[in-house]
Parts: sequence; structure tokens; C-alpha cells
Amino acid sequence: MLGLMQDWPLLIHRIIDQAARQHGSQEVVTRSVEGPIERITYREVHMRALKVAQRLVQDGIKPGDRIATMAWNTARHLEAWYGITGAGAVYHTINPRLFPEQIAWIANHAEDRMIMTDLTFVPLCEALADKMPTVERYIVLTDKAHMPATKLKNAISYEEWIGSVDGDFRWLSLDENSAAGLCYTSGTTGNPKGVLYSHRSNVLHSMAASGVDALAIGSRTTILPIVPLFHANSWSIAFSAPMMGAKLVMPGAKLDGASVYELLSDEKVTCTAGVPTVWLMLLQYMQKEGKKLPHLKRLVIGGSAAPRAMIEAFEKTYGIEVLHAWGMTEMSPLGSLGSLKASVDQLQGAALYDLKIKQGYTPFTVEMKITDDSGKELPWDGKTFGSLKVAGPAVAKAYFRVDENILDDQGFFDTGDVATIDANGYMQITDRSKDVIKSGGEWISSIELENLAVGHPDVMEAAVIGIAHPKWDERPLLVVVPKEGREISRENVLEFMQGKIAKWWMPDDVQVVKEIPHTATGKINKVTLREQFKGYRLPG
Ligand code: ADP
Repeated sequence: MLGLMQDWPLLIHRIIDQAARQHGSQEVVTRSVEGPIERITYREVHMRALKVAQRLVQDGIKPGDRIATMAWNTARHLEAWYGITGAGAVYHTINPRLFPEQIAWIANHAEDRMIMTDLTFVPLCEALADKMPTVERYIVLTDKAHMPATKLKNAISYEEWIGSVDGDFRWLSLDENSAAGLCYTSGTTGNPKGVLYSHRSNVLHSMAASGVDALAIGSRTTILPIVPLFHANSWSIAFSAPMMGAKLVMPGAKLDGASVYELLSDEKVTCTAGVPTVWLMLLQYMQKEGKKLPHLKRLVIGGSAAPRAMIEAFEKTYGIEVLHAWGMTEMSPLGSLGSLKASVDQLQGAALYDLKIKQGYTPFTVEMKITDDSGKELPWDGKTFGSLKVAGPAVAKAYFRVDENILDDQGFFDTGDVATIDANGYMQITDRSKDVIKSGGEWISSIELENLAVGHPDVMEAAVIGIAHPKWDERPLLVVVPKEGREISRENVLEFMQGKIAKWWMPDDVQVVKEIPHTATGKINKVTLREQFKGYRLPG
């Protein structure tokens, strides 16, 4: 027997309808690419999104067509997403930091019909246009006055483009399982793979993500997503902020410590989210300038492991609660968050931070398990580590246009991470399976060594890679970048690490470098780093 409740498909445009109706005067603040700070309301975002949808339909865009956005976090980018999905089309976020050949590759794979882009990336589009034959039109997210002279096909400024319609439009009625968004994983090896979100998966994921033990987003929250819209849905914030009526602050193109600080402070931001590298820049800026952020309650760190020293600095020195989160593009992306459950609420001192460096527990809608190589489930004892696998309504079941089964017999997706889960349900990433260092048949966690090394007062960033070893198979090499104006020596770092980890985990060597390479999503690029140290011989 079926229930007798209404059929109300979970569609993305219902989010912006709700924002316009219930939180119509709430602000979306943008540091515009053109320069000035701009303010608009959810009511206006809604109206402008309707115009985007209306104009797309007028331009012949059909349900399921892909419209690429290669853009910073701005109100226009947000409107574009709602307009695209409201017309039944699919927003395809392109990460401009990818190698240009990869951008062309994914635009072709997705068969994007239009590209909406910022002024910043017009030259990049021009350089690639010949290689992206499916693109019929380029829309530059600016107004007529700022529109550059360009030969891009049918190029038009966004304001002129939506200015030609009146917004008298009804969102398309769609099945909630219709495709809504497409995001390719960075693909450090092989070609990038497309993750195709649906309306339903985005709505459910955003509801789960805004819960009090998750990002805790409500109508009195002011949230600033540093994490870009092109990095896995900006961790839901582009949906959950309007859904809950939060004030949204969009940082545009400027992500340096001073610019981020200025927005956080001027707009009285209460919650913000991003990868460790941006928080490193902010911390350094605040330390150097002696600044504080009294309004900031919550800082979410994810994408790579948050170093303990960073968590402690924000919490102890600045009184900002750090929430460590883990996820991946294939999971929409949030998979776990490190808020304190009642069972661990009393923890203090070192024990508290032992917990806070863990990646946290799953919200409702995510199921998680760890398994051995044969697929057998392993215990939640905080010690046994295995392949981390996940299931849920916002977890990928296949890649776009790839004919390959990616789920196990129980329907779980293998994340490629190795992890432990403790008796309280808190998961801790040991490593990515391809980064773990295999020494004498045992595993050494590169993440743990990196975390420890950045606790050294003179170390800014650290990366650990495995170097081939005749006896042990692989041994760890620690690569460090010193803080500005500081010097570090191999002996000094090793001495600092001594006694804090098992003896056989100690790096065999330390290399001091000026810079560590990063991926397009701001993570340490171990593939490039291994390439740089190819043929490197450990001492002795
Ligand atoms: P890409 O690496 O291509 O940018 P994702 O952003 O989807 O793609 O990366 C997901 C991966 O990032 C996870 O599988 C995990 O290895 C790593 N990751 C994400 N968050 C954390 C975290 N808090 N701690 C450690 N690793 C993390």
C-alpha cells in the first residue's frame, strides 16, 4: 500500500522560490570581478534566474543540454545555476585551474552548448575556442560597459543577454531524478570523470549539509564559501544558504589572506568553508597583522586533512570553532563532519584535538564502511584500517558516459581512501590508497607525518612521498616549505618529530623546498611531487 501524500518532486528551483518568498530581502554580497562590492537580494536572484531560464529556452536550449560555467563565486554565477536548472538544462562547472587541454577535453566530453565565464577567463576561452567545437555561444558574466572586444563565438555580456527578456517564465516541471549538475573530478591520472548530480541528490544533500551538526546553516547565518562553485557544488552552500535563507557572501576572484579577512570582517560572517591552503593564508595574515574575527563562529576545513596545528590555532588563539569535514566530488561532496556528539562532548585538551583531527561522522543520507581487500567489513575500533566505501542518495552510481560498474555487491562506492572508524563512529583518513607509503609490508600514513611536520613552528607546508627502497620497498621522504623569513634544517625537523610517532615511521630524509606543487583544487599534488623527486636516492 502506498502512502497518500503529495507528489512534490525535489527540484532545485524550489530552493530559490523558497528563498525569494521567505527570505526575499536577505542579501547576497559579492566582491565583483570588476572590483566593487555588490549587493542584491534573494528576491532579485530569483527574478534574474528566471530571466536566465527564459533566455536559455529562447536560445533553443533543451532539457538535459549542458551549459558550462567557468567562473568565480559571485551572485551572477549563482543565478546562472538556478536559471540553467530551472530550464531543465545541466550546469557543468569547469575548474579554470585545470590544464587547458583538460578543460577542452571535458567541454568536448560534456558537449557543452554554451560557456558562461568571467572576464578573468576570456583569454583562456579564446585560446581554447577552436578546440571546443560544440560551444555555440560565450556569455561573459559582466555588463555591457565592461564587455571586452572578443572574437569568441556569439559573445555577449550576461547583463545584455538577460536584459532582453522580462522574466515572465515558469520553471520547467521535471522528474526529480533529472540531471542538474555535472562536475568532473580532477583526474590526477587518466582522463577526468564526470559526476552527474540530479535535482533530487542536490536537494537531499543540501538539507543534510545544513543540519546543526553539519554546517549549521540557518536564516541568521552569514556564510562565505571560499570553496568554489566549481569544486563539487561549493560543498552544498550554493543550495543550502538560499534554502535556509542565510546571508551569502561571495568572494569573487580574490582569495588571498587580506581580501578574505576583509570580507569576513566587514560582512560579519559567522560561518565559512574552504581547503587548508586558504586557511593557512588567512592564519598567516591574522598572525602578522594582529587581527581577530569576533563574529566568526565556525570554520569548515575539508578537501585535504586539516593539520592539528591549524585547528588548534583557530580554536585556541582566535576562539573560532573548527569543523573538519571530508568528502569527494562523487559524494556531492560531503561525506562526514567532525562536530561533537553527546558521547564525546566532555573531551578536553589533547584528547579533544585527537578527535578533532579525525574527519568526523556521517550525516543522515550517507552510509559508510571499511573493508579489507576481499571486501569483508572491518570493525569500528579506531585502529583497523581498510578501504573506505560509501552509499547514499547523493553518492554517484556511475560516471557520465563511462560504461563501467563502480559499485560493490552491496551498492557501495569505493572512495579510494584508506581509513579507520572508531567505536563512536568517527572516521579518520589514513591516506589516499595511492599515497600511503608501503614499508616492509606495513603502511605509513603520509597524512599523519605531514600533520606532525606542520606542527613545527618554522614549517609552513609539508608533504610526504614514498621513495623506492631496496630493502623496505618504500620509505618516506619529507618535503617541507619554511615559513617566510625562517630557516629549517633536516636535523631540526627530525628532532621535532622524534618520539611523537613510531620509530619506523620516521622519514628517512627531509628536503627543504621553496614551494610544493598543488592541484587544481588546491591540494598537494603528489603526482607532480613524485615526478620532481624521481630517481631521488635516500641517504645511506
Ligand atoms: P580532487 O582530489 O580531484 O580534487 P575531490 O575534491 O573529490 O577530488 O577529492 C576527494 C578526496 O580528497 C577524498 O577522496 C580524500 O582523499 C581527500 N579529502 C577530502 N577531504 C579530506 C579531509 N578532510 N582529510 C583528508 N583527505 C580529504
